[in-house]
Amino acid sequence: MVFSDKVQAIMGKVEQKISGAIQQVDQLIDPNQWKVVAAFQKHRVSDYHFNSSTGYGYNDRGREVLDLVYADVFGAEAALVRPHFASGTHTISTALFGVLRPGDELLYITGTPYDTLHKVIGEPQDGKGSLQDWGVHYAEVALLEDGLPDWINIQKSITSQTKVIGIQRSRGYEWRASFTVAQIAEMVQFVKEINPALIVFVDNCYGEFTELLEPTQVDVDLMAGSLIKNPGGGIAESGGYIAGKHKYVELAAFRLTAPGIGGDVGAMMGATHKMFQGLFLAPHMVGQALKGSIFAAAMFEELGFATQPSWEESRSDLIQAIRFTSADHLIAFVQGVQKASAVDAHVVPEPWDMPGYEHPVIMAAGTFIQGGSLELSADAPIREPYIAYMQGGLTYSHAKLGVIYAIEHLIAKGHL
Ligand SMILES: *Cc1c(COP(=O)(O)O)cnc(C)c1O
Repeated sequence: MVFSDKVQAIMGKVEQKISGAIQQVDQLIDPNQWKVVAAFQKHRVSDYHFNSSTGYGYNDRGREVLDLVYADVFGAEAALVRPHFASGTHTISTALFGVLRPGDELLYITGTPYDTLHKVIGEPQDGKGSLQDWGVHYAEVALLEDGLPDWINIQKSITSQTKVIGIQRSRGYEWRASFTVAQIAEMVQFVKEINPALIVFVDNCYGEFTELLEPTQVDVDLMAGSLIKNPGGGIAESGGYIAGKHKYVELAAFRLTAPGIGGDVGAMMGATHKMFQGLFLAPHMVGQALKGSIFAAAMFEELGFATQPSWEESRSDLIQAIRFTSADHLIAFVQGVQKASAVDAHVVPEPWDMPGYEHPVIMAAGTFIQGGSLELSADAPIREPYIAYMQGGLTYSHAKLGVIYAIEHLIAKGHL
């Protein structure tokens, strides 16, 4: 592969500049990898756990041990890890419906949640079975201009109706920093001082293994994430997890299957092996993706673009946001990333009305798992300000190629 002189020149400079930050990622991978291995060992994972179940899936020991291993890795009392979760949104929705009842209020304290959750929250009497349709109240406290929580308004907004506090760790499609686990700990402490009975829920999508601790280790009661993102390690074929306090995880399980049945049924139909191996690989894969994001930030900063976070800032998710000046630039960037894929590199992504999103979304996802975004991928809602969100890369070398191809494509289109 031959790259242009321009790209080669900045790449040499950038690789030198970021070498210390890249080393820091290695120092993160080690303890996270060891933590996962220790949990496998504690629960004596054996190859018979990789066998699968059919029908009701009663007494599926692999499924039970997978739940225990996840709970340990996340420092939680319990976990529910299932291929039956169709997406991250489904997983989050299951957790929220599990613990909320008509008349309760859900209060998001990190601003408007991720796009696909808007319809889960819904509108009163929308006839769709959304939270508000069921009579759950919803409120949110916007973040302050600097992207930090608005403590004063959070305090004012917590009432006797407030049952669940929602926190989104990752930036989603927003130009803000992601919240570190330390910041989440501060939020938990703050709201529990007001009312210790509040259930704190964290949308942990894209956050797993980007730090040493997970939200459930700082007194978060319930959290959820997707297995086609970080904890699936790039090889789990579908699914999600919920982790947290035992009683809340059980309520979520009652919602996933049926009250009284919960997590005791659910045939795994061949998914268990890859879910275990994916979790084993996840700390390493997340490290590769983090390195890719650091490289992307540094390259685009060198070219004069605004990035969030910048290459040297600490990270609490995989996402690298890059701001462009027009829809054309944004589309060219995403199409350039697709050209670096091992799968479907010949396909040209176009914006489309993705289910659950309010604006057309363009997505580069030449992935082995459809839409798997621990793999090299980039996406953007076509709306102002024109921001592309890039993430993933199962190998650092591949993530680099994505950045290089995106830049080359922007040059070829006359945008650089
Ligand atoms: C991806 C994501 C979701 C939703 O997950 P899907 O699998 O796309 O449904 C929710 N919240 C955040 C922050 C996400 O990044």
